[in-house]
Amino acid sequence: MLFLPLPGEPMNDKSVITGKTRIYGIIGYPVTHSLSPVMQNAALQAAAVDGLYVPFAVEPDQLATAVSGLRALQVCGFNVTIPHKTSIMPLLDELAPSAVQAGAVNTVVNQGGRLIGHNTDGDGMIISLAKDLECGIAGSKVVLVGAGGAARGALAAFCRAGVASVIVVNRTLQIADDLANSFRACYPQVKLQVSTLPVQAELALSEVDLLVNATSLGMAGEKIEGLSLALLSGHAKVYDMVYNPTLTPLLSDAKKCGLKAANGIGMLVAQGELAFKLWHGMSPDEGVMQEALSCFYATQQRLDSL
Ligand code: NAD
Repeated sequence: MLFLPLPGEPMNDKSVITGKTRIYGIIGYPVTHSLSPVMQNAALQAAAVDGLYVPFAVEPDQLATAVSGLRALQVCGFNVTIPHKTSIMPLLDELAPSAVQAGAVNTVVNQGGRLIGHNTDGDGMIISLAKDLECGIAGSKVVLVGAGGAARGALAAFCRAGVASVIVVNRTLQIADDLANSFRACYPQVKLQVSTLPVQAELALSEVDLLVNATSLGMAGEKIEGLSLALLSGHAKVYDMVYNPTLTPLLSDAKKCGLKAANGIGMLVAQGELAFKLWHGMSPDEGVMQEALSCFYATQQRLDSL
């Protein structure tokens, strides 16, 4: 929350909105659940940037009007979340390679009036895998569950990071196959296979180094039916992009099997840190976004228990 000082109080540059304050934000529908305002405002304040990050609820049929409005208002940059990540692409002036490969935009930079779309989700996941699971991606064998937007961004990032192989597992085989096919020509050195659930026996899950859930399963406590972590070897690691709840059935199963596992909070933080760098030309203070989230969760818990 930003306050103007009372008469006689000293002026605090960090907490006052002036005519020079730069505006950033996030568009989505709904957007009330987004934690990006918590993380981004904490980072802006810590870095003493004269900026403000606000949520904008944009209904799907208002997207084009909203983008024109953000352009007209000279908003300096914004994040994009569900359901606009793909539909915004033709409305922008330019797409960075990260957005083209992911087939989605999660960050827009306003560069002198030109809106440039980027995608920081995939690289955010790679950073989180290294930090939270000590997982090196180059040369590794991955199982990727899901073939939606997040899975596409993840597959692009895995290929860029030099994985040896990826098995894309999805309830509809054709969608998994279409996803894998869109990367085969660019990355012939990566072995790309597809499967429905349960994963076909010949795909040798015992050799896999990392399993990533990129579906929404787990958000409402659902298990991923047909996926037995007992088939993985003891060195395999498990990553769930879902972060709410923090302990999903997949992560709980991984713990029971003695496998190292992490949820998607680190990815959420890392994609936000990468977006911050694109907008402000510098990284946010180390740990400030993570800390803001932890404080937010702790406050929520206290309020829930009242
Ligand atoms: P999406 O709607 O594009 O894709 C959803 C995927 O889930 C599809 O592959 C779909 O087939 C699969 N799925 C849904 N219900 C299923 C079911 N009953 N059985 C089998 N498969 C099912 O969504 P998305 O944008 O790809 O997001 C997927 C998840 O990743 C969401 O939970 C989202 O919150 C999470 N995510 C997290 C981060 C992060 O920063 N941690 C970033 C992006 C996405």
